[in-house]
Amino acid sequence: MALLDNLEKTFGKVANVTVQKSKEVTQLAKLNTQLAGINRELDEMFASLGRAVYQARKDQPDSPYAQLFARIADKQAQAQALQGQLNEIRDVKVCTQCGTANPKESQFCSKCGASLGDK
Ligand SMILES: [Zn+2]
Repeated sequence: MALLDNLEKTFGKVANVTVQKSKEVTQLAKLNTQLAGINRELDEMFASLGRAVYQARKDQPDSPYAQLFARIADKQAQAQALQGQLNEIRDVKVCTQCGTANPKESQFCSKCGASLGDK
């Protein structure tokens, strides 16, 4: 009987450890999810701050960020050129007011009504 008692106690301990581990895994997953969410929010806030600083100071040549501003302007020009190529292939005219892609022959934006006059 002592053997059975010991066996029962051992299984009980194993079951407790398993439940405890399971709780830990659940808690870890929850904390990791919370941490990832906060880090994502921080990234968005820093990006917003960066955009605000860029907008406010991009035309100041003596800014300590002038070099970075120049690189950003260069990348924006590259992005605009690539977007133009995409629009050509897709055969669309993109509204400069709202960004909607309209058929190339459109005179006015189908969403906001802005003129799509040839540039
Ligand atoms: Zn539009």
